[in-house]
Amino acid sequence: MLRKVLVLNQNYEPLAITSAKRAISLLYLNRVQLVERYACEIHSVSLALPCPSVIRLHSYVHKPYKEVVLNRKNILKRDHNICQYCGKNSQPMTIDHVIPKSYGGKDTWENLVCACIRCNTKKGNHTPDEVGMKLMKPPRKPSHLFYLQSMISKAHQTWKPYLFLE
Ligand SMILES: [Zn+2]
Repeated sequence: MLRKVLVLNQNYEPLAITSAKRAISLLYLNRVQLVERYACEIHSVSLALPCPSVIRLHSYVHKPYKEVVLNRKNILKRDHNICQYCGKNSQPMTIDHVIPKSYGGKDTWENLVCACIRCNTKKGNHTPDEVGMKLMKPPRKPSHLFYLQSMISKAHQTWKPYLFLE
């Protein structure tokens, strides 16, 4: 009952993560359809139920997605703690302004990246072009899938197709 369950909207868009207990009551109330299951069963006094892994709502819900908060922790998470200049994962990491503040660079998802101390020092107060450095990929604002994707672990292989991780 401690397993987590991925909830999909009626159109298969990932919505949330819930508890197995909640998922089972939604299944029981016929509000959702069982899409994927874990290889186990939940036993009650009279019956054995499949362990839900992915469920889908029968009717579409309009849900305004929460904006991902722009902060140091989420920048590092988005970039998987990998320096966006050299690709290394050497702790501790810093946050680099791609266009330096002194050049008018803003605190935005598109201008902040995870960088190792070595690259950050090398780049200094310059644009990447000025010092011949290149970003591995253009930094972007994470989508609402970000939180769900970051909660993925090996235990949730069955979720991957629905979170576009395959
Ligand atoms: Zn680096």
